[in-house]
Parts: sequence; C-alpha cells; structure tokens
Amino acid sequence: MSPNLVLTNIKQVATLAGYSDSPKTGADMKELSIIEDGAIAISNGIITAVGTTKDVLSDIESDTFSQMDLPSMLVLPGFVDSHTHLLFAGSREQDFAMKLDGMSYMEILNAGGGILNTLRATRDASQMTLTGNAFGFAQRMIQEGTTAIEAKSGYGLDTKNEIKMLQAINDLRDMLPTEITSTFLGAHAVPPEYEGRTEDYVDVIVEEMIPAVARSGTAEFCDVFCEKGVFDVEQSRRILLKGKEHGMKLKVHADEIVQLGGAELAAEVGAVSADHLLMASDDGLEAMRKAGTIATLLPGTAFSLDTEYARAREMIEMELPVALATDFNPNCANESLFFTTALACYKMKMHPREVISALTINAAHAIDKADRLGSIEVGKRADIIILDCPNPEYLAYRFGMNLVHTVIVNGQVVHTRFGT
Ligand SMILES: [Zn+2]
Repeated sequence: MSPNLVLTNIKQVATLAGYSDSPKTGADMKELSIIEDGAIAISNGIITAVGTTKDVLSDIESDTFSQMDLPSMLVLPGFVDSHTHLLFAGSREQDFAMKLDGMSYMEILNAGGGILNTLRATRDASQMTLTGNAFGFAQRMIQEGTTAIEAKSGYGLDTKNEIKMLQAINDLRDMLPTEITSTFLGAHAVPPEYEGRTEDYVDVIVEEMIPAVARSGTAEFCDVFCEKGVFDVEQSRRILLKGKEHGMKLKVHADEIVQLGGAELAAEVGAVSADHLLMASDDGLEAMRKAGTIATLLPGTAFSLDTEYARAREMIEMELPVALATDFNPNCANESLFFTTALACYKMKMHPREVISALTINAAHAIDKADRLGSIEVGKRADIIILDCPNPEYLAYRFGMNLVHTVIVNGQVVHTRFGT
C-alpha cells in the first residue's frame, strides 16, 4: 500500500512495540524499543511501516507521499490521558484563593465553593455548554501531545444530568480527532439532596442510573469514588457489579485519602484499572498484580492537594503495571502530561523512560484500547507525537516544558508548535 505520509531520518523513534497484549511491568518499563535514524510510513490513518529510514524507504515504490525529515527529533506514540474529569461548568480559582487565605475545606464548602459549586454549575449548564468547555480543554491537551482522552461524568449526580454529561462526551467525538473514552461516574459524590442517605443514593445509581446509562449506550466504563465518607467498599462493589452486569468495563478511584480496600476491590471485580492508590495496602497492590489491574497514578492531584505521592517505585519493582494520567478536574486544573511527567520523575522517582511507558502503552491498556493505540507498530492508528527533544531523558530534564513540535492524530497533522 502506498503511504500518504512518511516521517524520515528521525533521530530516535521510541516504538514501545511488543506490548499490545499485556502492559509493561518491572524493568521492561524502561525498555522503549528505540530505532535510531528511524522512519514511519502512514496510509489512511494507519501505520504501515516502521524501521530504519533506509529499510522503510527501500520498500516504498510510489513517490507521491508527503515526507517530513526529522533529524533532531524524538518521536513517541501519542500520550493517552486515561483519567480526566474533562466535563464541568464553572471554575474554582476562588476556592484556591480562599485556601491560600487559610480557610478550611468545610469553610470553603460553606462559602459556596468546592464540589457543590461545580455540581450546581454543571446541572445548570446545557449539554452544548459542557461540550464547548470540554472542547477547549481538549484542544489544550492535544497541544500538549495527548492523542487519546478518557472523560468521566460525575458532576450531574442524577439520572438526567449524568446522561447529559455522557451525551456531551459523545458529542466531542464528532468535534475532535482524538480517541475519546467515556466513563460513567454517578458515584463521584453523594449529592446534597441525599446527604446522610448514601444508601438511598446507591439504590438510585444501581436501580435507575446504570440501566438508563446502559440503554443510552453512552458509557464504556463504570467508575466509583471508593473513599471513607463517600462510598464504602460494599456500596462500591454493588455499583461496580451492576455496571459490569450491564456490559461496562470497570475503573475504581481507590485508596486516595485513607486505606479502605479499594485496591483489593478493584482486583476482586476485575477492574481494568484502579486509580490514585496513594494509601493502597501491600495486599491490595499484590491482588491487583495477580488480577492484571493497571495502577493509574495521578501525581497532579497529590500536587494540588499538597499530599504524599503514590509509591510508584515499589509498584514498579513488584511488577505492577503502572500508568500515569492528569486527573484533570476543577480542583486539579492542569491538562499537561509534561507537568505530570515532571511530578512523576521528581516526586515519585520514576525514570523518564518508565514515564513514557506509563503515558503510552500502559495508559492505552488502562482504557482497554492497546490493540489500536499506545505504540508505533504496523496496523496501529497513526497517533504520533514529534518532540523537539534529543532523547527520553531530556523530557524530565526540561521539566514541565511542552516539548511538542508536531502532533499527528489518525495520520493527520493536527497541531504544530508553529500553529496549524
Ligand atoms: Zn478522578
């Protein structure tokens, strides 16, 4: 097949090849399967050849393709942001200012801030407004090299508004070139009308919301915020098993603030990923390893809350597959996986090469799409980022900087540093 586009003379292509069936763990996370002086041929959005420039060009017979020569660049699979709360209305900068003034979480909540502020604004917003807000955030993500985005509901907290959020996520699919993964998170918080009646709200989620969401066909995953004072392990199990019964894959916000057993639950119910895990027990992590559950770490949240970070080094050493994501949300309002990279390296002592595995192939596994995304291999979708960067280590050395030169999604150039 003759290609439309061929990238040639690339200084280094980190292909991350060979891990489409199972994620990278342990020492393999540092091995990026790099090709020096590499080339990638793309036809109709699909990668058709990867190898050295000499080998790839010698196999191409036509001369009608566009060519990009990239002698000083590092080329990676596009970043996959596998945990975001992309949709919401309003913003929370005043909460942050109140926090800097010394107000407590409860004082901020009583002053009309916090999650209730976002809940109110999101319920009041139209589907189109939510899609528009999310589109703006997603554009910034693309500029930061993100080519696949997971987005959750969870600020509607009733059937009508949760489905409105999921429909808005669905609308994004027609507006953005990136892969979008949708997650139902009706169990994000207990809404004020159910205060003190969590069990009644769980009944609504299980009996009304999940069947309605399943009928609407708008959610690929079901997620729950399993946390002390929010949804306990038993309530979370009920919700997750109901989601599973309705054909959804599972994710869990697990053991973020206290050690509750969320990691153990994620393993037990066969969740694709358990996310946060700052306080997860050794037994919980071991159960996840045995079950093949991905550990998705969100250092941006630890940064914004000024808490401890997850035990990434121990997780990697015990051969638990680790992914990284932004957790973009109104209380952690940063779209950049370069910032996440900086935190992962400086605060969790991950090696830049491990971070690249965690943001690409392992993150693709965390949304169960590693068969199509997350590596540069023949047959995969041509989601590729070209970085103005000589090698993987440079990514952490230039901490927090957006090093994107060009972003290619589905074989099309969708962003360049010089404007597209
Ligand atoms: Zn989250």
